[in-house]
Amino acid sequence: MNKSRRDVLKTLALGSSALFFSPNVLLAATRRKKDKLGIALVGLGYYSTDLLAPALQQTKNCYLAGIVTGTPAKAEAWKAKYNIPDKNIYNYQTFDTIANNPDIDVVYVVLPPSMHKEYVVRAANAGKHVWCEKPMAMTVDECQAMIDACNKNKQSLAIGYRLHHEPHTQEYRRIVNNKLLGKVTGVNCAAGYRDNRTNHWKQTRELGGGVLYDMGVYAIQGARLGMGMEPVAIVSATTSTTRPEIYKNGLDETTVAQLEFPGGVLADIKTSFGENVNFLNITCEKGEIKVEPYSAYNGLKASSPLGEIYHPYDIPWQQAKQMDDNATSIMQGKPMLVPGEEGLRDIRVVQAIYKSAASKQRVTI
Ligand code: NAD
Repeated sequence: MNKSRRDVLKTLALGSSALFFSPNVLLAATRRKKDKLGIALVGLGYYSTDLLAPALQQTKNCYLAGIVTGTPAKAEAWKAKYNIPDKNIYNYQTFDTIANNPDIDVVYVVLPPSMHKEYVVRAANAGKHVWCEKPMAMTVDECQAMIDACNKNKQSLAIGYRLHHEPHTQEYRRIVNNKLLGKVTGVNCAAGYRDNRTNHWKQTRELGGGVLYDMGVYAIQGARLGMGMEPVAIVSATTSTTRPEIYKNGLDETTVAQLEFPGGVLADIKTSFGENVNFLNITCEKGEIKVEPYSAYNGLKASSPLGEIYHPYDIPWQQAKQMDDNATSIMQGKPMLVPGEEGLRDIRVVQAIYKSAASKQRVTI
C-alpha cells in the first residue's frame, strides 16, 4: 500500500470510534484529512493556562481543539482567546459525549492527581487517545486500571513527563545507557521549590497532595533514569514539614529517601515544597554527569568529562515538543515515548517510600 493511502486510512481510523454515533460525524470524518490531531484539555488551571495552551499554538502536529471545564467563565474566556467552537466545549457532566466529536482525537487530563484515573478511564471509554499529567495517579492499582482501560479501547496513553522529550535528558540517558563513562556508582537528585500556597490541592492529601507525588516524581525519575536501572528497595525514607499548620496530619512538605538498585548501587533523593533546589548528579566510574537545573522548563545545563551539553530554548518549547512527539507517534501508529507503564513505575516507588517512612523499615520493591 502506498504511503498516502495508508495515511488516509490511518486518518479515518482515528475518527472511527465516532462513526457509529451520527451520519454527520461520518461525513466529517471522511471529508477531512487530518494532518493535525485535535487536543482537548481537561482542567484549565495553571499548567493548561500558562504552558499547554501556549505550547499548542506552537505545535505542528496537533492543535487546541476543545476544552473541558467546570467553570463557565473560563469556558467563555478560552473560547474567545483561542477561537474554540461551542460544540468543542464540555463540562464534567457532558464530558462523556466527547465520544461523538470527531474534532477531538486526544483528551489531555490536567487535573489534580486524585482525578486522573477517573478522567483517563472515561476518555478511553469515549474512544479517545489519552495524555495524562504526572503523577499518573495515587496508587499502582489506579495506574493499572488506566492502562487496562486504554488497552481495552485500543487507545494510546502517554504520561506528561516532558523531560523524556528533552535533549539534555536524552543526552545524559545516552551516556548512562551506553556506559560511555563506565558503570553508574551513585546518583544524587533533588527537586523542589518554595510553595507559599496554604490551601491548594498540593497541600490536600485526598486530592493528591504531598510533595512526593508532585515534585517527588522528578527526583524518582532522576534516580531511575540516572541509574538506567529500576530500584529494588527503599533503604530508608523520612517525611517532614517545618509548616505543620499547612502540611497537616503528617502530609509531607519534604521527603528524603535512599533507593537501592541492582548491585547495591544507591541513589539519594530529596524533594521539597519548602526550598528551591533542582539538580541531578550521576557518578560514573569515569567521572560525573551534572545537570542543573534539572527539571526546569528551560535553562537546563549539563556537563560531564565528555563535554558540555547545552541546548537553549524558550518556554514552552518542551511542552510543544512533547505534544508533537506524541501526536506523531499516534498518527504513525507507534508506541508512546512515555507510556502508562512508565508512570506506574514511579507510583510504585512513591508508595514504597511512604511505606518505608511510616514503618522506619527497609521496603523491598
Ligand atoms: P491547578 O490547581 O492550577 O489546576 C487544576 C485544575 O483542576 C483547575 O482548573 C481546577 O479548577 C480543576 N479542578 C477540577 N476539580 C477540582 C477539584 N476537586 N479540586 C481542585 N481543582 C479541581 O493545578 P496545575 O498546577 O495546573 O496541575 C494540574 C496537573 O498538571 C497536576 O497533575 C500537576 O502535577 C500537573 N503539572 C505538571 C507540570 C509539568 O511540568 N509536567 C507542571 C505543573 C503541573
